[in-house]
Amino acid sequence: MSANVPQDILDALTDVDMPRLPPERAPTETVQGLPLIRAAAIVVGSGAAGLRAAVELRRRGVDVVVASQSAWGGTSACSGSDKQTLHTANTADQGDDFHSMAKAVRAGGAMDEDTAYVEAVGSVRAMASLQYLGLPLPQDALGGTLRYQTDHDVVGRATSCGPRTSRLMVKVLAEEAIRLGVPILNHTTAVAILHKRRVTGLLAMRTQARTGANPFGLTVFSAPVVVLANGGPGELYRDSVYPNGCFGALGLALEAGIDLVNLTESQFGIGTRREGFPWNLSGTYVQALPHLYSVDAQGQEHAFLAEYYRTTQEMASNIFRKGYQWPFHATRMLDFGSSLIDLAIVRETQAGRRVFMDFNRNPEAIDLPFSLERLDADVRGYLTTAGAIQARPIDRLRHMNPLAIELYRRYKVDIAAKPLEFAVNNQHMNGGIAVDVWGRSSLPGCYAVGEAAGTHGVTRPGGAALNAGQVFGTRVAEDAAGAVTAPGAPDGLDAALAAVRGALRPEGMAVKALKAEIQARMSDHAGILCTADQVRQARAGAEALTARLAAEGVAPARPAEAARAIQWRQMALASQAVLTALDHYIAEGGGSRGARAICDPAGQGVPHSVHGPLQDYRFREERPADRERQIVIRWNDGRMEVTCRPNRRLAPTRNFFERDWPAWLTGAIHGTKWPEAPQ
Ligand SMILES: Cc1cc2nc3c(=O)[nH]c(=O)nc-3n(C[C@H](O)[C@H](O)[C@H](O)COP(=O)(O)OP(=O)(O)OC[C@H]3O[C@@H](n4cnc5c(N)ncnc54)[C@H](O)[C@@H]3O)c2cc1C
Repeated sequence: MSANVPQDILDALTDVDMPRLPPERAPTETVQGLPLIRAAAIVVGSGAAGLRAAVELRRRGVDVVVASQSAWGGTSACSGSDKQTLHTANTADQGDDFHSMAKAVRAGGAMDEDTAYVEAVGSVRAMASLQYLGLPLPQDALGGTLRYQTDHDVVGRATSCGPRTSRLMVKVLAEEAIRLGVPILNHTTAVAILHKRRVTGLLAMRTQARTGANPFGLTVFSAPVVVLANGGPGELYRDSVYPNGCFGALGLALEAGIDLVNLTESQFGIGTRREGFPWNLSGTYVQALPHLYSVDAQGQEHAFLAEYYRTTQEMASNIFRKGYQWPFHATRMLDFGSSLIDLAIVRETQAGRRVFMDFNRNPEAIDLPFSLERLDADVRGYLTTAGAIQARPIDRLRHMNPLAIELYRRYKVDIAAKPLEFAVNNQHMNGGIAVDVWGRSSLPGCYAVGEAAGTHGVTRPGGAALNAGQVFGTRVAEDAAGAVTAPGAPDGLDAALAAVRGALRPEGMAVKALKAEIQARMSDHAGILCTADQVRQARAGAEALTARLAAEGVAPARPAEAARAIQWRQMALASQAVLTALDHYIAEGGGSRGARAICDPAGQGVPHSVHGPLQDYRFREERPADRERQIVIRWNDGRMEVTCRPNRRLAPTRNFFERDWPAWLTGAIHGTKWPEAPQ
């Protein structure tokens, strides 16, 4: 991107205003003295995935309501990186093949083959319909979509409208939902799923419903279809690049006995934390080749990467590669690869040092002085083609992506003037609610989409999360629209009310203490570097916390904090579920993959620094067999049940028009499973 893009164009891509919500209609019915809202379908959450499901349901004539804790909160609306990525079949000048895209999407293993194919084949429609709604994806003069290479992507299937791509997606989908008359009920937090053999509705807490007699604003939703689109568990870790207040769906689903899958799989990478302005430092932030350094308690600077890499060229080339190898991956610590940078940063942080990125200084010399002429061929080639050959990192960044500078400025951080503090943070949950190819969970009538659904495997190409939410949002609507019935009685309400009211006790654990305990345990013992002992102890700690909460309850500081208190209680259960899955995986002999290195003195993988082997970080290698299965967790009768299931396979299949048309016309495609290959 050239540096002279007019300011108003940059502003429109960074300052994205959201539409005004129309006034809500007050509920007219009550049940047990509480407001009752009936609908044919309820979508929980108004992120990109939930709004897609709602719009697609409404277009099919379904009376759908969106219930959202915060209408323009959540990850889609509030997170970003240098350019947020949407991963779709390549519509630039290179032909694509859905099967090869599906293979790339599930390349890390532990992913269902049918799901990967659904995401690949559905991506074209997802992207085209977003463009139709007004999403400004960039094109060339002949209508080809501009593309680039992203994480876990060798073909270059990524496209973007800049740092606010997912917020722009929320905006165009919200405008469409409003146009279609979908009620979006704001400040409405789902606290329990109502069910009796199948889903019957939700119990929520609504700010608008608070009265003297109903201090928590409890509200009952009756619906035969519930779509969980409440995002990922961003609050699980202390060190996190999620926006504030992301609780996700894991605890809510566990309490309803719904199966979760792949909870061992997450993403971690470098970014600025949510205490300031949470943002991923991927893409051009690192491709501009800033100087990375740390500062100790005495204010002394350390060019710490010189303790790891052998030459200036090797260090600088790996800083660049973090642009499209952004998430930590254990094997990339080997052979002086790009994840050695994450390891180095974590060690600096553990030593009490603060880590910074300075865009006014080139990387400091290890052997020869830094030079754009002395970079690995791929790196030099990229920067030359991009025209990023200016002398200083800030000028290279301004040339490649002025929005990256603009964005921080909006949050009162001028990276052109001052170094930027950053860390390795948790960023994404690849696992979640187990779903089939229509987004159906193990509880009939209850669907999950977006980050709430556990559709990703061990790795996911950058941008695959947003694509999955759009593709499955559409498929959920297609499936549910054919299955909706009139809303019946909210069966299961008595049990849900008793559980929620019973959990909130003035003498219970304080919300602040609960939050601190969960987040410290997860960040300190389940981050990118784990050991079997630490994870086992952390699991025991999480079990003790759940037992304590069951015995003592949780104490909101005031009635308005009741929904948060319930969410923190659910987060304790989610943390126990993640640690149970991880402990099970490691105890069974599972090795390092995806987000985590499983450190073990008997491990085969040994990262090296310039000074020799880093024995403390010797890690177990991944066992190929683990790629073929997924760990399933269910909360049953006060216990976490752990099982394993093989990945669903997709037999080579080719549809045939006359043979397959009737199944589509009659809806039989919803009842038939894709043919599975023998395991
Ligand atoms: C810094 C960062 C950068 C990222 N970059 C990319 C990228 O470039 N490409 C990509 O594909 N992915 C990226 N991701 C991941 C991606 O943004 C998310 O996975 C995706 O936006 C999730 O969308 P969602 O609709 O499922 O959830 P969200 O957008 O988080 O929406 C959840 C919604 O649910 C509501 N909610 C939550 N709990 C409740 C409840 N109990 N009751 C009612 N409502 C509730 C929230 O208010 C919100 O409206 C990134 C993530 C981060 C943190």
